[in-house]
Amino acid sequence: ALSEAHAKFKGLQEGKNADYIPALAKVDANIFGIALVTTDGKVYTAGDIASQVSIQSISKVFTMAKVMEESGPEAIEKTIGVDATGMRFNSIVSIEQSQKMLGGPEMNSLVNPGAIATTSMVKGGTRAEIWNKILSYYSDFAGRPLQVNQEVFKSEAETNQRNKAIGALMYAYGYIKDNPDQATDIYTEQCSVNVNAKDLAMMAGTLANGGKNPVTGKQVMKTANVAPVLAVMARAGLYDDSGKWFYHTGLPGKSGVGGGIIAVSPGKFGI
Ligand code: GLU
Repeated sequence: ALSEAHAKFKGLQEGKNADYIPALAKVDANIFGIALVTTDGKVYTAGDIASQVSIQSISKVFTMAKVMEESGPEAIEKTIGVDATGMRFNSIVSIEQSQKMLGGPEMNSLVNPGAIATTSMVKGGTRAEIWNKILSYYSDFAGRPLQVNQEVFKSEAETNQRNKAIGALMYAYGYIKDNPDQATDIYTEQCSVNVNAKDLAMMAGTLANGGKNPVTGKQVMKTANVAPVLAVMARAGLYDDSGKWFYHTGLPGKSGVGGGIIAVSPGKFGI
């Protein structure tokens, strides 16, 4: 099935690279691989699974999972919200609409305002401590030590004025308690982590397997937190198109501008 899907879509020339981060515009648009990891640890692949691209928005899922691990799923629900905004991933209007005085929070950890605030909730005394925790958490999901794409990180850090403004606004409204610039900077670095198609499938497969990496056998997150993570993915993983995605697939997924989608069928596989 993977080979068939790969053959069917490999010639597709629709769309174009995201170019609001200069380094992303330069990525080879022909990189295309599909991987599927079953909950009993079988790995199936088709196409290019060696090339790495920055994880971008898919990172948000795993930082949200980390915060749930540290502070409980209710911390995400009460601080950020678990509702779709129905707006673009970096909408500032969505922040205005989600203000607590209007009955919020009505946002989620998968759009930029919620994601930056979620990153700010990862515990740690120093930036390095917080960062190492995030990177090693992602690595446990992938089952190998992941690294940052420094070119993408630098490029995004130089051009992320809008995300800095979002961080500042989230701080002004009290979603971020302290140091919004650090939160945005760590968020930018988490988006720059390099992954290949197999890494993403392994990360999805770990969610599908109740939080236990099906290949390394490591219990990466509490099984009880998987359902809340998948619920937010189902509701908001594809931003303003989440409803359409869920309508057609019935699966929680997460897209990212860096390329790649995680779809998770709980209890079966990650792809
Ligand atoms: N690094 C990207 C940003 O914050 C991720 C957003 C996305 O992929 O949706 O602009």
